[in-house]
Amino acid sequence: MIPPPQTVQRRYRVIENRPIADGIFRLLLEPVEDPIPPFQAGQWVGLHLLNPDGSVWAKSAYSIANAPTTYGPDLPAGRQVELAIKVEGDFTTRASTLKTGDTVFLTGPWGVFTLPKNEPRLVMFAGGIGVTPLLSMVREACATDLRSDILFFHSNQTCRDAAYADELRSLAARCPRLRLIEVCTRETHVGGEKESKRIDVEMLDRYIKDYTVGAYLMCGPREFMDGLKRMLQDKGVDPKKIRKELFS
Ligand SMILES: Cc1cc2nc3c(=O)[nH]c(=O)nc-3n(C[C@H](O)[C@H](O)[C@H](O)COP(=O)(O)OP(=O)(O)OC[C@H]3O[C@@H](n4cnc5c(N)ncnc54)[C@H](O)[C@@H]3O)c2cc1C
Repeated sequence: MIPPPQTVQRRYRVIENRPIADGIFRLLLEPVEDPIPPFQAGQWVGLHLLNPDGSVWAKSAYSIANAPTTYGPDLPAGRQVELAIKVEGDFTTRASTLKTGDTVFLTGPWGVFTLPKNEPRLVMFAGGIGVTPLLSMVREACATDLRSDILFFHSNQTCRDAAYADELRSLAARCPRLRLIEVCTRETHVGGEKESKRIDVEMLDRYIKDYTVGAYLMCGPREFMDGLKRMLQDKGVDPKKIRKELFS
């Protein structure tokens, strides 16, 4: 029997590993032979780290940060896969030492946390490293003719050096449908579209006038998402319109 294409371990080469924020590194991978099948914005891959003899040491799940529109044989980035990984335990510590030219295996793409196509508005909440699947979605939305307005809450302890903060700012500057709210929970600076406290009902009310419009997508720590879901449901949002990706 032929195995589903997602389950096949595909050999990839590391072409870049660099820090992009405190404790977070970005891996760029390119296929050595056949790439993983085409993916949708928001999906994830299995990253398999190898022993020196080429056998698999361990695997973990990582959201694909790049957008499908930048993924194709004729595009400048070719078939590269971009991951952003927060160093936490054994696996990520080892992954952080990957060098240019090292080999890993990818499986996938997997997952149903994908960019909705027919919503008038999308409200996205990214907490810390939870930005990765949502970044893929906004990169995709801004590169295509997606008709949704996007309100994007990018929440971090400090905003200055948050992962992808610069790119999100420049996307918001050139993508008229994207409105970025930077939430910096441990910074006192407030100005422009920045907030300096945790997201609460008072803050949501200032940005969301009609809670019944569109869908809500969130990715971040469990307590962050549980709190948001409660607030949104208290505001009358249909639970079916709230979608979350849990990393653990
Ligand atoms: C859908 C999804 C998407 C995700 N996307 C991201 C993302 O974009 N960025 C991100 O940073 N995180 C993401 N995560 C979280 C990620 O999968 C890991 O849970 C996280 O990186 C934990 O890292 P760790 O170093 O603590 O792992 P560990 O808990 O140390 O290890 C993970 C696994 O590696 C193996 N392992 C660890 N140590 C050893 C050892 N000594 N010997 C043998 N095997 C070992 C085990 O199988 C273990 O379960 C995602 C999770 C999910 C479910």
